[in-house]
Amino acid sequence: MNYNKSINEKKNLKKYGWQGTDDRQKSQIMSFSEDYMDFLNRAKTERESVNEIIQLAKNAGFVELSEKETLTQGDKVYSVNRGKSICLAVLGSEPLVNGFNAVGAHIDAPRLDLKQNPLYEDGGLALFKTHYYGGLKKYQWTTIPLALHGVVAKTDGTIVDINIGEGDEDPIFLITDLLPHLAGKQNAKKLSDGIIAENLNIVVGSMPDDCAEEEHIKSNVIAILKEKYDIEEEDFRSAEIEAVPAAKARSLGFDKSMVAAYGQDDRVCAYTGLKAILDMNPTNKTAVGIFADKEEIGSMGNTGMHSKNFELFLMDILEKTGVVHPYAMQRMLSASRALSADVTAAYDPTYAEVMEKNNASIIGKGLTIKKYTGARGKSGASDANAEFVGFVRGIFKRANVCYQSSEMGKVDEGGGGTIAYILADRGMEVLDCGVPIHSMHSPYESASKYDIYMAYLGYKAFLESK
Ligand code: MN
Ligand code: MN
Repeated sequence: MNYNKSINEKKNLKKYGWQGTDDRQKSQIMSFSEDYMDFLNRAKTERESVNEIIQLAKNAGFVELSEKETLTQGDKVYSVNRGKSICLAVLGSEPLVNGFNAVGAHIDAPRLDLKQNPLYEDGGLALFKTHYYGGLKKYQWTTIPLALHGVVAKTDGTIVDINIGEGDEDPIFLITDLLPHLAGKQNAKKLSDGIIAENLNIVVGSMPDDCAEEEHIKSNVIAILKEKYDIEEEDFRSAEIEAVPAAKARSLGFDKSMVAAYGQDDRVCAYTGLKAILDMNPTNKTAVGIFADKEEIGSMGNTGMHSKNFELFLMDILEKTGVVHPYAMQRMLSASRALSADVTAAYDPTYAEVMEKNNASIIGKGLTIKKYTGARGKSGASDANAEFVGFVRGIFKRANVCYQSSEMGKVDEGGGGTIAYILADRGMEVLDCGVPIHSMHSPYESASKYDIYMAYLGYKAFLESK
């Protein structure tokens, strides 16, 4: 008995993935994270993420699907949907109707979108009205440097790219908050009511011009926009401009063991999934990488995972491999398997009360699988089949991928979802599998570099599975 106990104790000594990781692998983990942080700094919106993914895919030999008349084993293709979502595929040796392996992540992130009539002047300031996107805690978005990213679509069809606030010489933008001296009533409110959505107004100027009849400050901003970007105030009606934290990704901690950055939900899984499909060794199964938009607001719209554009991408591939059978699509989907690559909440010792420790993800213990998501009684969960979870565990075991199994928070505390159920609805086997992060949906989320690297290894092993 004592002997067994000591073995168990020894096993438990290796509590964290870093333990037993040699110097060579540690330096691989660190340099992987450097590239990841570069990606985060260039890809702060879904559109920018798509551009970065195209660039990295092209460098790895991928070509646009439309450029290919036919597809055969080993071909690498990508297809972009309206500049906001993208799918990649590496053709396997087996017929596609036997099913494919997919890793699906999302590339949109919580942020503040400008309203379509954003600009106004009040109290010596020019300001932008915003409408927040995704589930966020509003108080976190005041008094932090913001950058503006996006596009303005003009009536003549020209698209103006906007990216202001990232360069050292660029101005930044800011949402004000009440000084503590006058915040007695605000402080007494519920945290969720302390800052309301209509308080999320971004300061964009304070210098009046000399020419306008009224609203000199607003008119000065309009003049600057006209001069620098050739856009009129009305053009905001057909603009998509996102205010995002202007901060860059940084290493976190004395030991630099973590990444702190905006938008790691879900670009941490998007980047690791992308690197996995770029680096994988082609096998019998076709590999598919999904990088979806709109997950944070329900996966709706023609760039979200619910969109039939995903089927169109698959149909194009089927057709180009010579398959035109009417049931081929459904047969293929039902034979396919996917990891829904999305983040989950890491156990936070400061807020331990919302977690059930036996089933919480701990930072530094590897990527995490979640058999089900949903909230309060698995509501909304696709709940992966035990057989499939076992299959994925086997892959991770053989590839030496350090992983843990968790759910998000105590049962009655809340919950969340991913694109898993949408893929499962299509008939696929799907398991949630991603990186645990702290401060999810905040302007500056953090994740373990070890877990990030394990996600890369795990996704790669899955895509390569036979
Ligand atoms: Mn997510
Ligand atoms: Mn999210």
